[in-house]
This record gives sequence, structure tokens and C-alpha cells, in this order.
Amino acid sequence: MQPVASSPPQVFIAHSKDDKEGELFFTKLLGAAGLKQYWYPYTEGVLPPHAPGIRKAIDASAAVFVLLSKGMEQGHTRPWIGFEVGVGFALKRPVWVFEPVGESIAVPVPFATGYVQRVEALTTARTFPYTDVVQSVLTGEIVVDPNSTVLFLAKCMEADCSATFLAHVLNPTTARCPVCRRPGTIGRLSQANGLLGVKLTEWTW
Ligand SMILES: [Zn+2]
Repeated sequence: MQPVASSPPQVFIAHSKDDKEGELFFTKLLGAAGLKQYWYPYTEGVLPPHAPGIRKAIDASAAVFVLLSKGMEQGHTRPWIGFEVGVGFALKRPVWVFEPVGESIAVPVPFATGYVQRVEALTTARTFPYTDVVQSVLTGEIVVDPNSTVLFLAKCMEADCSATFLAHVLNPTTARCPVCRRPGTIGRLSQANGLLGVKLTEWTW
């Protein structure tokens, strides 16, 4: 996976236009990290077809961040999220899922490469524990410390899923696998399997 050459890198935000809280949160977070962000302007009268514009925007982005919110569970937002994630996968972009720690959103994200259980509100963006994580995702320079609890390699323990992804978890008992969305399924891979310490750019798809 080769991040696109762009300085600063751009991240494509897959979101529900009704998620104003999430929009404010990530505008602040990514702004503090000095990153460009692309929000597809559904609310500004952009006429269909939407798919070509979305594909072009993801092609120009280093990663896709999926902001899970209740508004994604129903209506026409959900298939568009699936489309954006699929384009991200096809273009070999990292797909990171962000979920508020107090919520459980019933939207599976196939091929998620990262899962972040985030705090509900962002007050001090510059000391935010995963500002560094966000930056390193986009530059492809991410290195997982085997002893880190901030970011670790994880695997879904459900045999019929077995998804592997990087994870930042605030409450392990409520964290859900981003792919199958079942609770209590995230396991932390041990050093014995030789997978710890790899760079994101060496991630096996
Ligand atoms: Zn799973």
C-alpha cells in the first residue's frame, strides 16, 4: 500500500451529513494534526451522479476515515458508506473506523484496517492520544510498539470473521469488531505470532 504523495496528506471522511457532532470533532482533530480533510458536500446541492466525484476524491486521499454514527444505520446513507469503503479498499487505502466509546453503531465495515474507539467530545486536540496515530496512518509511517496500549494489532476472535486490524480501544468490554460488529470479539495479537512491530505499509491485505 503506497500512500499518495500529497503534502499535507488528505483524508477522505465517510460520514452521515446529519452527524454534526462527528463533523465538529474531526474538523478539530484533523485541523490540529495539520491534515487536509475532504467531506463530500452532500448538503451543498451537488447533483448526481455522485460516484465519480467520490472515487476521484478518494483517489486523491491517503486514507478513508469512517465516522460511525446512528444516522448511518438507516436510509440511503448506509449504501453510500459501503460504496466509499469499497472504493478505498480497491484503491488500497487504509480504511479506519471511528466510533464514540459510548455508542454501538450497527454498520459493519468490511476490510477495515483500523478501529478507534474515540472519546465523545474533543476539548484539547493537541494532547489527544491519537493525534499521532491519525498522522502516522496518513503518512504510512506507523510503527506498533508491542507494549503500547494506545495502538495495538488486534484480531476478531470469532472464527467466521477473524478480521485483523490496528486498534485503539478505550473500553475493551464494549469495543466491537469493526467488520462483523459483534461485541467482545477484539483480541490483541501476541508478540509470539510475529505480527507486532510491522509498519502499516507492510500490512497484508
Ligand atoms: Zn469480527
